[in-house]
Amino acid sequence: MEKSLKTILQTYGFNFKKAYGQNFLTDTTLLSEIVKNAGVTKDDVVLEIGCGAGALTKVLSKNAKKVVGYEIDQKLKPVLRDVLSDCDNVEIVFNDVLKEKMSELESKLNDDYMVVANLPYYITTPIIMNFLEKGSRVKSMSIMVQKEVAERLTAKAGDSEYGAITVGINLRGSAKIIADVPREMFTPMPNVDSAVVKIDIEKNKFSDVDFKKVRDVVRIAFSSRRKMLVNNLMNGYKLPRAKAEEILNMANVSLTVRGEDLTASDYVRLSKVINV
Ligand code: SAM
Repeated sequence: MEKSLKTILQTYGFNFKKAYGQNFLTDTTLLSEIVKNAGVTKDDVVLEIGCGAGALTKVLSKNAKKVVGYEIDQKLKPVLRDVLSDCDNVEIVFNDVLKEKMSELESKLNDDYMVVANLPYYITTPIIMNFLEKGSRVKSMSIMVQKEVAERLTAKAGDSEYGAITVGINLRGSAKIIADVPREMFTPMPNVDSAVVKIDIEKNKFSDVDFKKVRDVVRIAFSSRRKMLVNNLMNGYKLPRAKAEEILNMANVSLTVRGEDLTASDYVRLSKVINV
């Protein structure tokens, strides 16, 4: 019979650390649903970020070809060794994933890969942006986030939740919610509900694009959400109104829009006519 999470954690004298966002999942039905909806198959290499006590890692191991997991907390070493004792396709790296260079991380995976992660909420945005901007072999990211963040990541242009990160996702692919996870599913229970968002990366969604330039425009467009785009362009690029309006006209964008009204392809068009 499998030992319960509580028994295993007690055996190794493990105490949950709030600073590392340690809220663990145990329900194997939920974990299997997440892995299935993430689209993980026996042909896939998976990068798991934040393995915790290894419950998700174990389900990933059963369903994937290979799993490379990152875990910052060295105190989880004996726990993971025990829980994953029969998982021979798993390699755990005890390191802060934010400190790992993308090239080193990708060389460990040595293949196209999927990211699956139940992360502490404070590192969600840096992780997503890092893989969107620098990941060269990432196929998808299925990431547990707070319900409100899930709505932001999957928003459409014009929605109030739509933001710079939504555009960042749409420049590389698209996002959808693949599981709703109520707070009661975690130990210890957090004070918010969560959802798993899957970001599918489309290879060469936009070709012939200077992504740094697009990201600059997006940052400037959202620098003051309440202002119209023309005003944000004037402030951000130090342009006279006539020049900012000319840019919008050239990109075929209305003079009265706000940053949140534009799609990723609108931003790509804008970046191509900005020459400052
Ligand atoms: N995957 C497990 C689960 O679903 O039960 C644990 C999820 S828990 C929300 C997040 C895990 O990420 C914790 O085990 C924590 O120690 C780890 N973690 C936090 N910051 C990290 C970082 N920068 N790099 C790697 N792991 C990190």
